[in-house]
Amino acid sequence: MPDIRYDGQTYPLCDGQSVLECLIAHGVSVPFSCRSGICQTCLMRAEVGQPPDAAQKGLKPALKDRNYFLACICNPEEDLTISLPGREVARTPATIVGMELLNAEIMHVSLQSHGQLEYRAGQFINLYQKENLARSYSLASLPGEDPHLHIHVRRVPEGRVSSWVHDGLQPGDTVDIQGPSGDCFYLPGAPEQGLLLIGTGSGLAPLYGIVRDALAQGHTGPIRLFHGSRNRNGLYLIGQLQELTRTYSNFEYTPCLSGGYVPKGFTSGRAHQVALSEVPRLAGWRVFLCGHPEMVKVAQKKAFLAGASMKDIACDAFTSNAITG
Ligand SMILES: Cc1cc2nc3c(=O)[nH]c(=O)nc-3n(C[C@H](O)[C@H](O)[C@H](O)COP(=O)(O)OP(=O)(O)OC[C@H]3O[C@@H](n4cnc5c(N)ncnc54)[C@H](O)[C@@H]3O)c2cc1C
Repeated sequence: MPDIRYDGQTYPLCDGQSVLECLIAHGVSVPFSCRSGICQTCLMRAEVGQPPDAAQKGLKPALKDRNYFLACICNPEEDLTISLPGREVARTPATIVGMELLNAEIMHVSLQSHGQLEYRAGQFINLYQKENLARSYSLASLPGEDPHLHIHVRRVPEGRVSSWVHDGLQPGDTVDIQGPSGDCFYLPGAPEQGLLLIGTGSGLAPLYGIVRDALAQGHTGPIRLFHGSRNRNGLYLIGQLQELTRTYSNFEYTPCLSGGYVPKGFTSGRAHQVALSEVPRLAGWRVFLCGHPEMVKVAQKKAFLAGASMKDIACDAFTSNAITG
C-alpha cells in the first residue's frame, strides 16, 4: 500500500482507506466536513505524486492542473507527499455586515467578501470557525442584485459551527470563507422549462436564490417551490415568497407542514410528497432538492421515477459526517 507524507511524517495507507481517513486515524488535524467529496473543505495538494482523477471531482481546472485533490475521496495508487493549500488558494476574509433571526432557529448572515467572489445563487461557501474547522452554507443572495453574500444558518443542537454563528459571531467580525462550490444553481438557456424546487428547513437558502435568479433572468416556465417543516415556526421568508407569487404569475409557493396542526394557508404533508403529488409528471423539468439528506435521497429517486432526467436533478444534501472535524 502507498505511503502518505505530510508535514515531515510518513503515514502508511491501510487497504481501502482514503487519505483523510488515514490522517484522522493518526491523529493529524486537517480541515474536513462532509467526508463525501461535496464540500471541498478537505482540499489538499500533492507536491510529489499524482492524485487519482476521481479525487479531483468538481475542482476547477486550474486547481486540477496544480495537483489539488479532495482528501476524503482520495484512494491513491502511489506514494503522495501532500500539503494543505496556501491560504490565497483556499480562503478569503469576509466581514459580517448583518445578522438577523429568520425564525427561532435560523440566522440570516450577510457577509462582505474582501476579495471578488464570483458565484451563482444556490452554490455554497465554506465558513471557517477556526483554522481546521469549517462548514458549508448555501448562498441565498443573488449576485448583481444583493450587494452582500447571504447565508441561512440553522442552529444544530451541540453543533460547533452553527452554535458559534448564532452565539459567537457579530457584525463587524471578520471570518475566513472558501468557495464558491457546487452545481445547484439556475441554468439559463431553457426559459420555458418547468422548475420544481423542494427544500426542508434552511434548505430554503439555495432555493430562494435560485428562484430569484430564474425570475430575474426572465424564466417563463412554471416555477413551483415547496418548503417543508414540521410546524409553522420552522418556515420562514413566507411574506417575501408570497410577494413574489403576486409579482410573477409563473411562480407558485407551497409551504408544507408535516406536524399535526396545519393552519389555513398551509398544506398538510411532507414537502416532497406534496410536491410530487401536485406535479406528478416531471419529464423535461429541472428539479432542485435541498436540505435534509433523507428527504433529498427519497425525492431524487421519486423525481427520477416521475420522469425527470438524472442530469436535471440538482441536489444539495445538508450532509454532516463530521466526527472530529
Ligand atoms: C453542500 C452543503 C450545503 C449546506 N448548506 C447549509 C445551509 O445553507 N444552511 C445550514 O444551516 N446548513 C447547511 N449545511 C449543513 C452545515 O454545513 C453543517 O453541517 C451544519 O451547520 C452543522 O454543523 P455544526 O458544526 O453546527 O454541527 P456539528 O458539530 O458538525 O454536529 C453536531 C451534532 O449534530 C449533528 N448534526 C450535524 N448537522 C446536522 C443537521 N444538519 N441536522 C441534524 N443533525 C446534525 C451531528 O451529527 C453531530 O451529532 C450544508 C451542508 C452541505 C454539505
